[in-house]
Amino acid sequence: MLLCYFEGSLFLMPELPEVETVARGLRRAILGRRILSVTLGKTDFIDDPAALEQHLPGRQIEAVERYGKFMLLRLSAVHGESRVASNGDAASASLLVHLGMTGQIAPSPAGQPLEKHTHVCLLLDDGRELRYTDARRFGRIAYLTKALLAEELTGFGADPLEVSKQEFAGRICGRRARIKALLLDQSVLRGVGNIYADESLWRARIHPARLGAKLSRKQAEILRRVLQDILRKAIVLRGSSISDFLDADGQPGEYQRHHRAYGREGKNCYRCKSLIRRAIVAGRSSYFCPRCQPSPRGFVALPLPGKSARKTKRRDAPPGSGQAPNAGKSLRRNGKSP
Ligand SMILES: [Zn+2]
Repeated sequence: MLLCYFEGSLFLMPELPEVETVARGLRRAILGRRILSVTLGKTDFIDDPAALEQHLPGRQIEAVERYGKFMLLRLSAVHGESRVASNGDAASASLLVHLGMTGQIAPSPAGQPLEKHTHVCLLLDDGRELRYTDARRFGRIAYLTKALLAEELTGFGADPLEVSKQEFAGRICGRRARIKALLLDQSVLRGVGNIYADESLWRARIHPARLGAKLSRKQAEILRRVLQDILRKAIVLRGSSISDFLDADGQPGEYQRHHRAYGREGKNCYRCKSLIRRAIVAGRSSYFCPRCQPSPRGFVALPLPGKSARKTKRRDAPPGSGQAPNAGKSLRRNGKSP
């Protein structure tokens, strides 16, 4: 519910394109660097702060990967007998970084004054510091051994950029949940959030409240293709900056200029000029064109702002509005990720 509240003030979780943008920036900037020391500020968003201090020094950053909406910094094994003895665990490991709503991670010269809300500084072997700042601290950082990582990654769905036609149809068609809920469910697809769900549904001309089971295989394939197309374009444009999102070079993304549905309530549809409407689907604000995306029978959008509520019969999504049966479970498992 926090999400809905902050959506009103335009605080949103970075989705796949934003996280991919940050991961690419970090790959360019810090790959191969060794971590020399760790300095922590506030630690309430870190799984086990002592583990960072104990296990990160001496490790090399071997890869930066995106997994769904978070990043994994792959860390080398620790060499040297004394280090092995003092750390206990010397095998290769990972650092999970989830940006939450306001998290930013980027390298800075070690001598540069700290930005406000800097909570993690990793001193690197080239004199820079990898710094994590997070005003709201809805992000998450965790040191994960191989076993902890395996546990962390269980239950996630397919990567939307890699999912095949057959797998996508298998995960969507036949499900008695609303398509918007299925797109947001990280156990169905990992990495899609509110913005790119609405944009892809608009492009595919599918109403967010339609049931997965009611989509034809052809519609599912159109949706998969436009979703991939939108995500790829958004990555090229370094994501959407509609809140605090900045990439690893401190630059905002530009994809928000290409939004066709998301956040456009009351504005003209780019295809048919009808007014874009909003409804609550799967507990989230959902933007759609009432003409291009015909609604399921009985589903009514929220009244347009400024219009008399009496003129439009107000009705929120009916009970059981498409929240996937395991969505709650997946929410908890993924920490603060939607
Ligand atoms: Zn339209």
